[in-house]
Amino acid sequence: MKVVRFHAPGDVRFEDAPEPEAGAGEVKIRVRSCSTCGTDVKISKFGHHHIHPPRVMGHEIAGEIVAVGDGVEGWTAGDRVQVIAAIPCGECAECTRGRMTICPNQVSMGYHFEGGFAQFMVVPKEVLKVDGLNRIPDGVSFAEASVAEPLACALNAQNLARVGEGDDVVVIGSGPIGCLHVRLARSRGAARVFLVELSRQRLDMAANLVKPDAAICAAEVDPIEEVLKLTDGRGADVIITAAASGKAQEQAIQMAARQGRISFFGGLPKDQPTITCDSNLVHYRELMIIGANGSSPAHNKQALELVATGAVPVADLITHRLPLEQAIEAFGIVERGEAIKVTIEP
Ligand SMILES: [Zn+2]
Ligand SMILES: [Zn+2]
Repeated sequence: MKVVRFHAPGDVRFEDAPEPEAGAGEVKIRVRSCSTCGTDVKISKFGHHHIHPPRVMGHEIAGEIVAVGDGVEGWTAGDRVQVIAAIPCGECAECTRGRMTICPNQVSMGYHFEGGFAQFMVVPKEVLKVDGLNRIPDGVSFAEASVAEPLACALNAQNLARVGEGDDVVVIGSGPIGCLHVRLARSRGAARVFLVELSRQRLDMAANLVKPDAAICAAEVDPIEEVLKLTDGRGADVIITAAASGKAQEQAIQMAARQGRISFFGGLPKDQPTITCDSNLVHYRELMIIGANGSSPAHNKQALELVATGAVPVADLITHRLPLEQAIEAFGIVERGEAIKVTIEP
């Protein structure tokens, strides 16, 4: 079969690999859709300490079961499924407390296990053990289902930041994750959602699709002043940084309303992990700064439901559909910000 495999930083190949077979406790799928994201770009350029090459990339996975290994119950050939990306152990102190996103033993599809940029893929028993193989609801396409994984991550962040009725929400970063955050915040009853982005071109493309109440180009105006203006000086109730930018995190703290919640959704580059925070703003205004790390199996199921019910539409966010042989080109499209979501259809 054909796969897209990481060999070394800067060396990702479209090549042949032996077709895998489902062992005991495993399920084999025909991959129908595997979406790309900024993480794939990062891996292709810099590698990752959890990836021992060669490794098939791809972690936003949807497909169809073609074989079921010994001892697997409840699944049959032909079932349409979505696969979690981050796999918690299900047994540690955090997992047993229901906090699966912060499992210290977490492993991942496309990192520790062969990923979805392939014609066929084996769903490891570790995924099945934590109920991480999800039935795709009727009416949801494979491409839409592949976006459930990033949507699940956004859902985790908005749960932690308690985005809800009447909130003024700012999303910083207008990539696919930023677009999902805008839509999700609306579905949770946010009063207004403002989108902030440095690149005018990326901002316009995203704003055309997700229609924020204001689209603020941070290269043209001061986003803090703009948000204060839009909120009569109050600031925003929730600010979500969907960008790998320390400056965005600093701005987020400064544009928060009293008792505002700030979600650091996007991580920072490893060599620049520190920011400047006016701690007195946090103290006197009772601000809450909240991290967000991936999603749990339950978040993935809820994300599929949000898509199925139409609460969070994602079909129009998939701006590019490419065959497997063009996956490496897709990383370039993602990196240059020419697309919202690029999905690969092997
Ligand atoms: Zn991703
Ligand atoms: Zn665990």
